[in-house]
Amino acid sequence: MAELVQRYLDQILADHVSSTDGALADYIPELARVDPDGFGLSLSLADGYVYESGDPTIEFTIQSVSKPFTYALALERIGRDAVDAKIGVEPSGEAFNVISVDEATKTPMNPMINAGAIAAVSLIPGATADERFNQIHEFYSACAGRQLAVDDDVYSSEKVTGSRNRAIAYMLQSFGVLDGDPDEILDVYVRQCSIKVTTTDLARMAATLARGGVEAVEERRVASAEVVQRTLSVMVTCGMYDAAGDWVSAVGMPAKSGVGGGIAAVLPGQLGIGVYSPRLDSKGNSVRGVEVCRALSANLGLHFLSVTRESRSTIRHTYDASPGVRVYELHGDLLFTGAEQVLRTLDQECGEFDVAILELSRIDDIDDAARRMLAGMRQSLSAAGKEGFVVDPDDVLRVTQQTYARVFGTLDEALNAARAHRAGSDG
Ligand code: GLU
Repeated sequence: MAELVQRYLDQILADHVSSTDGALADYIPELARVDPDGFGLSLSLADGYVYESGDPTIEFTIQSVSKPFTYALALERIGRDAVDAKIGVEPSGEAFNVISVDEATKTPMNPMINAGAIAAVSLIPGATADERFNQIHEFYSACAGRQLAVDDDVYSSEKVTGSRNRAIAYMLQSFGVLDGDPDEILDVYVRQCSIKVTTTDLARMAATLARGGVEAVEERRVASAEVVQRTLSVMVTCGMYDAAGDWVSAVGMPAKSGVGGGIAAVLPGQLGIGVYSPRLDSKGNSVRGVEVCRALSANLGLHFLSVTRESRSTIRHTYDASPGVRVYELHGDLLFTGAEQVLRTLDQECGEFDVAILELSRIDDIDDAARRMLAGMRQSLSAAGKEGFVVDPDDVLRVTQQTYARVFGTLDEALNAARAHRAGSDG
């Protein structure tokens, strides 16, 4: 059956293979030497399964696709407040290499333009350039699930042509944004941009973000869920150079492109995409890369804001197990809206029972918001002279009995306690 998906991806690539629009980046001379026809696509599902199409073995330099990952690493290492003090999260609407900062704060507008990315490098703790770079290198490798290497030719090529980035770094230093020597920080930035990846690496790195920071090959957490949420947010608003608005409406996935021709796109909770084709449009995005992502999004329904259906009812079944004892079977993921539905239903129906039993054995996941909301259940029920029990064999509520309703391992135990309670003999 997986072949159907494979054929589907091959067809999308075939549909775009003949397009030769755009041009290779040439401001870094080495980038102009790649095969302009190189074309690859990889799609990594949340469970780590990867589909590949075209040529997924081509290695290219990550360039600006590195930016969200160094930003995530900075957030991870020094925390959000310290990062926010140096880098904003507002789309600049300007080209990636513009020499500018926020008028009021004198800090880079966001981490996806060069000024913000160079500042992000300076926030990675390290006494030397090597120490900083090693952390970045290790982090990207951990996200990709394999050890990545640096393209020394591209690195040297950009080192000698990087006047604009040098201007940006010195400007940032003059505004007190850079922690460290501008030339050393630039060296790390250029090295990070020269890390070699394949589309499969990009897809895996994107999938690590899609999984909230857990890499699929080693099943290792490399970043916290909060850091990933922050990172994806800036990818949505600033990831595709100055074409972010068009990208979000047409493709609808947090993404980052690079002048090496790569794009990484993330569908949170579901998958990561890596695509490569080195001919770029005037904004610096891979022409065929964008076309492929558009096609994938439209045909596979991957837009992150597409509302396919309203969230399912959390209460799958309600019945009276014995007079005055009502059982509510819940299922799926219990988040804010589900917990709200449960509480409102109990409120409306509490005239019809003495004891409510919430059956949670079919709940897949529950978040802290829902936990907090259910915490108040027993209290509100007892205000109405009622009792609330919970059947929670997997301990998804992870709570003490005092705070919440009484918790039981099986429905039978809960029913016995409910009947005893009604009979007035509950101890
Ligand atoms: N190393 C490149 C630069 O700083 C990255 C640019 C990009 O991919 O947007 O100019």
